Amino acid sequence: MVTVGLQPTGRAWARLVAEGSGCRKCPIAGRASKHVFGRGSLSAKAMFVGYGPGLSEDVLGVPFVGPAGKCLDAAVKEAFRLHSRNPSVFFTNLLRCRPCDLLGGPNRDPVPDEIDNCWPLLTRTLEIVNPAVVFLLGQVTHYEFGERWLRSETTASPVAIVEVAHPASIVRRGGVEGAAFETYVRSIFEGLEVLYCG
Ligand code: SF4
Repeated sequence: MVTVGLQPTGRAWARLVAEGSGCRKCPIAGRASKHVFGRGSLSAKAMFVGYGPGLSEDVLGVPFVGPAGKCLDAAVKEAFRLHSRNPSVFFTNLLRCRPCDLLGGPNRDPVPDEIDNCWPLLTRTLEIVNPAVVFLLGQVTHYEFGERWLRSETTASPVAIVEVAHPASIVRRGGVEGAAFETYVRSIFEGLEVLYCG
């Protein structure tokens, strides 16, 4: 079964969403339409972590549903297909609220205080899903996740943490039709090898 589009269910997840939805630690919560927690299977083998929700995600309350998300879905499906497997994935972000400075303003990168504030919600997500591989999307996520992960006391125990490009950068280079897409699929395929080529 393809799990790319599933909305999560389950008691631990429902508790996380109920508690996290009331979070107002950061000023950006006041500009967010919805808190955005995750998409995919709670038993996923691979988790993809981005910066934060964009405009489409903020409106729908679901991560990676805009152009970058569609590009990422296509790359993930193709990478799993090359391993002759169905996708077993979960998508989330460093932040649950959309990082922007004005109501309806452009997206911006998350700042360290916001990432610190939201880190417990991310680590609880990691513990619930407990993926074998975590893909960090883009340089901000590479740096900010990596720094906190080393100090984290989470019980999540991925066997690999893999850095790949953010899908927005692939969209800027032509998306699924562009020359960068094949390389992007390859990077995800290689990240999955720890699961299927052991
Ligand atoms: S980004 Fe995270 S920590 Fe900040 S208000 Fe939203 S849910 Fe809370």
